[in-house]
Amino acid sequence: MKIIMLGAPGAGKGTQAEIISKKLGIPTISTGNILRAAVKAGTPVGLQAKSYMDAGKLVPDDVIIGILAEALKGPECANGYILDGVPRTIPQAEAMEQQGVDIDVALDLAVKDEDIVVRMGGRRVCPACGATYHVVNNPPAKEGVCDKCGAELIIRADDAPETVKDRLRTYHEQTEPLLAFYKERGKLKTVENRPSIEENTAEIIKVLGI
Ligand code: AMP
Repeated sequence: MKIIMLGAPGAGKGTQAEIISKKLGIPTISTGNILRAAVKAGTPVGLQAKSYMDAGKLVPDDVIIGILAEALKGPECANGYILDGVPRTIPQAEAMEQQGVDIDVALDLAVKDEDIVVRMGGRRVCPACGATYHVVNNPPAKEGVCDKCGAELIIRADDAPETVKDRLRTYHEQTEPLLAFYKERGKLKTVENRPSIEENTAEIIKVLGI
């Protein structure tokens, strides 16, 4: 199964992708995680991407299209995958179609802007393995420490309140048009936000029929 996770930053795409990924035994490809690793490693892509990411803006389409094409070549993607945070623009979605990437479902996690702002304030991430937590909704077993690899959790620089507002604006302007794009293709499925991660997962499982 090839699934695209759509939704605003902080809608829970990464968290739900990880759960479904385990359930279906297919990998999650997160362009955000790939870019953060590139920034950390100081690669040419990382150097190019950093200023956009820090400002809550989108990294140019050609960079993303290259990263995605490379990631999808991996043998682990042969039986399907979940795309988290990509495509984020119509040109990215068109490029994917041109490359023959034929997805089954575009899953929209619909969360109101005011709920997003609250959520992002509590998000904590692992700089080593990319796992995400929330201080209230999804805390690690030991405060401030990653359950998976033991690294110290951090607040993402682009989760600062001012940057969150910019990221939401970017989402509405550039990413939201993808809902109509996939609706036209009969691929869009929407999950309205529920109070807990578990309830959202249950709804996603129902909608995907898995
Ligand atoms: P994320 O972890 O998905 O929220 O991504 C963090 C940041 O990486 C975004 O705010 C963008 O600057 C950049 N980014 C990730 N994926 C994409 C994409 N598909 N297109 C453009 N920029 C992206």
